[in-house]
Amino acid sequence: TPIEELTTQDAQQETVRLQKELLQYGAAYYEKDAPLVEDYIYDALYARLVVLEEKFPQYITPDSPTQNVGSTGTKSELKKVTHPAPMLSLGDVFSLDELNEWDARTTKSIGNQVPYNLELKIDGLAVALTYVDGKLVQASTRGNGVVGEDVTANVKTIKSIPQKLTEPLTIEVRGEIYMPKSSFATLNKQREADGLEPFANPRNAAAGSLRQLNVNVTKSRKLSAFVYYTAEPETIGVTTQSGALKRFSELGLPTDTHNRVITKMADITKYIDQYTEERENLSYGIDGVVVKVDQLDLQLDLGNTVKIPRWAIAYKFPPEEALTVVRNIEWTV
Ligand code: NAD
Repeated sequence: TPIEELTTQDAQQETVRLQKELLQYGAAYYEKDAPLVEDYIYDALYARLVVLEEKFPQYITPDSPTQNVGSTGTKSELKKVTHPAPMLSLGDVFSLDELNEWDARTTKSIGNQVPYNLELKIDGLAVALTYVDGKLVQASTRGNGVVGEDVTANVKTIKSIPQKLTEPLTIEVRGEIYMPKSSFATLNKQREADGLEPFANPRNAAAGSLRQLNVNVTKSRKLSAFVYYTAEPETIGVTTQSGALKRFSELGLPTDTHNRVITKMADITKYIDQYTEERENLSYGIDGVVVKVDQLDLQLDLGNTVKIPRWAIAYKFPPEEALTVVRNIEWTV
């Protein structure tokens, strides 16, 4: 039913039902790493909930999925870690029109068009890495954004994450742990041979492999990582997102080098088109493109909501499952 035609009572019922349903899907996805539905179905239900809650804000509850990052992770047996600053999610858009609307809002808030750093959206799970005097001392998952899980021993088995930086800095950096496509294929083949349920996608496989009490399991899963964020740019002397990526690399941290700084919206379209084509040739999964205001002082000015930064947006690729369906239909008619 179109939102405008809903009675208040219908709206309340649908909002409550969606909140409950999405919480259940979120728990399976974030805590058990075993989704109950495809992402595009979750995304469609979530988008409907956002619109409902916008129109009927009286039905927003503090535990609504729109008000929380990830999941509470209460079922996890891993030790808990409180993040020094919340680890947020990203706002997402599914069309160029919506992306243009985000750009218009951002440009209006800032006062003029500013450069954006475009990055690939790595299909993995977020991790925070704390280095003290250059040494890796702690690693944690995002969890519910405020409290995550301690995965230090697990992360220490990941070869691309240095135990020591090239400079003795004390800094927390954040990035994405992912499972390369080749490791994912090998793992699922093995699981099927062993009569186990295969992982739904590389992201769930990465999360399931990292969040293990037995670190030998993590070690055998061949995970990798990219770092893309720090809340302490002054520690590494940078003023832009693109500059931060370069510095991370100098420090020995793994970074994805496909980022690009652009100054006009037309270049975003080109970048999106390019990686929609090239994504299948990458050795790791990506599920979209992240557009970030490049200047870090402007990021601070724009700030965050309770769940997402206002200075960034994720453009999500159309789901591969849906594309297959569309292609099959085209082939059969
Ligand atoms: P998200 O994964 O869509 O986006 C936010 C995350 O992107 C960040 O936390 C970060 O980890 C990651 N990221 C990757 N590359 C990045 C880059 N270059 N810069 C910054 N961040 C980058 O958001 P989310 O809140 O983790 O989860 C929502 C997603 O999970 C949706 O796609 C949804 O479909 C899926 N989900 C699915 C189910 C299901 O049942 N299928 C349930 C819950 C969530």
